[in-house]
Amino acid sequence: MSAVINSPMPPTRVNASDAPILIDPFGRTVSYLRISVTDRCDLRCIYCMSDDMQFAPREQMLSLEEIVRIGSAFVDLGVKKIRITGGEPLIRKNVLHVFEHLGALPGLDELTLTTNATQLSRYATRLRDAGVNRINISLDSLRPARFRHITRVGNLHQVLEGIEAAQAAGFDKIKLNAVILKHKNHDEVIDLVEYAHSNAFDISFIEEMPLGIVNEHDRLCSYYSSDEILRDLRQHFDLSASTANTGGPSRYYRIHDSETRVGFISPHSHNFCGDCNRVRLTAEGRLLLCLGQENSVDLRQIVRGQTDSPEELSQAIRESMALKPKGHAFDMTVQPVLFRHMNKTGG
Ligand code: SAM
Ligand code: SF4
Repeated sequence: MSAVINSPMPPTRVNASDAPILIDPFGRTVSYLRISVTDRCDLRCIYCMSDDMQFAPREQMLSLEEIVRIGSAFVDLGVKKIRITGGEPLIRKNVLHVFEHLGALPGLDELTLTTNATQLSRYATRLRDAGVNRINISLDSLRPARFRHITRVGNLHQVLEGIEAAQAAGFDKIKLNAVILKHKNHDEVIDLVEYAHSNAFDISFIEEMPLGIVNEHDRLCSYYSSDEILRDLRQHFDLSASTANTGGPSRYYRIHDSETRVGFISPHSHNFCGDCNRVRLTAEGRLLLCLGQENSVDLRQIVRGQTDSPEELSQAIRESMALKPKGHAFDMTVQPVLFRHMNKTGG
């Protein structure tokens, strides 16, 4: 990738009205894009990666300019929210370019980030300045040795420092994400909620999804359902179901007398596909219409094509809606359902 970064082409405004443009065959409006800016990561979480991951060759990755062009095209087509994710987005060189350009788009209501927080100490303030409103931070354990085991290489102290930097930067909201695995960290859900509560963060618990082969554990044996977590939490917290909807798949509960919400992302136990409003762009430029299916369109081929016209890109995105399936195909008893790991998908 060139170190010199040019300004993106000015966006073509095709969505002058607020009428939804991206509507799938099941009548769902797509208003949310998740962009994976890299498949690489400085951690190796046991549920996300195998210990011998192969990463995409750099020339196959979208350049930062290409990412901005595709993101802008989605905003022109009515997308209101973009989340930057990965792999670990903050290890991509010059990644602030993406945040600064997307954050300046007038049609975008929310620019958010999912990160493991290892790099937040140096990036938090600049991300806030670039227009990032909300930030999701993955944190599966508050115990250093266990954190190291789950991430294979991670340093909890570095991550907690990153979280403090994010607090100081003043994001509208910080939410923690924790993937809960039986006999790995299921006994820590109360501590994690207490940590979130004492810092006025939200927290979501995620059921592990069978994306890619992982060799550290058997996903079926480590399954710990959202209902089991909720049961455990109710022994300690007064939780009431909330109607809050942040445009994501979480079902929320509120802790009595507190601003903290506890969410559950439960692909196995509570299917959320009926409300799906999102699509995902992989670091290689593949537009995935569903996290749990392979239906996709190659947008890299269009932005690198001979004509490279904004109209062609816009049309390809509109036409992709026809490929959006009704729901995911996750089945814990068949492993793996998809050979694509979460770091490629952009969780
Ligand atoms: N590296 C960043 C991070 O960890 O926050 C962003 C990318 S990561 C792939 C996004 C989210 O996906 C994280 O919250 C992570 O815990 C979650 N995740 C990864 N693999 C998963 C899996 N197999 N099932 C469920 N969640 C997974
Ligand atoms: Fe990296 Fe995030 Fe995957 Fe962990 S979950 S290995 S931090 S991409």
